Amino acid sequence: MEKIKMKNAIAELDGDEMTRVLWKVIKEKLLEPYVELNVEYYDLGLKNRDDTDDKVTYEAADAIKRLGVGVKCATITSNAARMEEYKLKQLTPSPNGILRGELDGTVFRAPIFVKNIQCNVSSWKKPIVLGRHAYGDVYKNCEIKTPGAGKAELVFTSDDGKEIRKTIQVMRGPGIIQGIHNLDDSIRNFARCCFMYALDKKIDVWFGAKDTISKIYDGNFKAIFNEVFESEFKEKFEKAGIEYFYTLIDDAVARIMKCEGGILWACKNYDGDVMSDMIASACGSLAMMTSVLVSPNGEFEYEASHGTVQKHYYKYLKGEKTSTNPVALIFAWTGALAKRAELDETPELAEFARKLEKATLDVIEEGTMTGDLARLANPPAKKIVNSWEYIDEIAARMEK
Ligand code: NAP
Ligand code: MG
Repeated sequence: MEKIKMKNAIAELDGDEMTRVLWKVIKEKLLEPYVELNVEYYDLGLKNRDDTDDKVTYEAADAIKRLGVGVKCATITSNAARMEEYKLKQLTPSPNGILRGELDGTVFRAPIFVKNIQCNVSSWKKPIVLGRHAYGDVYKNCEIKTPGAGKAELVFTSDDGKEIRKTIQVMRGPGIIQGIHNLDDSIRNFARCCFMYALDKKIDVWFGAKDTISKIYDGNFKAIFNEVFESEFKEKFEKAGIEYFYTLIDDAVARIMKCEGGILWACKNYDGDVMSDMIASACGSLAMMTSVLVSPNGEFEYEASHGTVQKHYYKYLKGEKTSTNPVALIFAWTGALAKRAELDETPELAEFARKLEKATLDVIEEGTMTGDLARLANPPAKKIVNSWEYIDEIAARMEK
């Protein structure tokens, strides 16, 4: 059989620990037999990031901007324990943080559904994709514990020295105050990323905030979303047959619990932090959650939502064949290949990605799965396999 060719390359960002081990197996058994992989390889393994003072991470970000598509393995974010373990020169920032910053992108997370793992929320038939604005608000706050009675004020001094001053509260006793901010540019880019993602997937966008109470702060989010939609996306949405819908955040939450899914839920930073955990937990396993970073210029970087699965890696180092679930890693590759296929107009590559996803899920739906899913499956799993056996089962199906 002749291998499928790729017109243009994708950026491949290798990673750490158990996911790095499986990454290699996935390439060897599920991709390379069928596709002549055209990749620019960047080793984002912790040691190499340390050796290159993170230069490799910035190079990888540039490659994603240049090529338009990237696929990333999970990576360790260094901390004191890792410094000791890997004998690092320095503590480096999170590579995902660097990539997000360089691409000015938004992360979208979506659960993968299979028939025999029931979602805890029975109305959800299709994935709810969550887009979290990852800038500002309470994550860049400034707080004071006030010692006694006094006046709390909000002051803004512009670069030309003019002052805007408002009283927050005349406080009659000790208490707490907090200042938070956001930037129009960041909100605008967040809105663009959301609309871009929705167009790509042909799904509606819901956005919720509390503009009835926070008339200026949340009101600004609502206004910018509306402005970006009207001026840049309205016609494209009409053509695609999809909608943008704004509602109050509490109404959005109530509707989410009753909807059938298949939408993008755009969330402010804190709402996204909280609600993404709710959706992940209701949908089963972290290993069935995909993640894609979308830039406002339409660059896409695909990865799994989970980390490097450190505990499994230590067992693997002792010789154990662990039952680590590779589904989200496989879907990171199929997502990137399908995107490449779409941009290059190479339908045979798109078809390959679709078939690999189907084979991956068919094996589970027919009762063969890794341990994390076996704990949730109904009807119960027929066969619990380790990662290598599972990948072999998928490969056997691809052969057919
Ligand atoms: P983790 O790697 O996501 O794993 C946490 C636990 O979740 C595992 O111990 C395992 O539970 C379960 N799990 C996650 N993925 C699984 C899979 N594919 N198959 C089966 N079970 C799975 O999180 P962590 O252990 O907190 O973090 C490890 C490293 O990953 C850290 O250094 C962190 O910095 C990094 N990290 C990277 C990313 C990223 O690159 N996107 C994201 C998060 C964390 P059991 O042990 O109970 O089986
Ligand atoms: Mg959270």
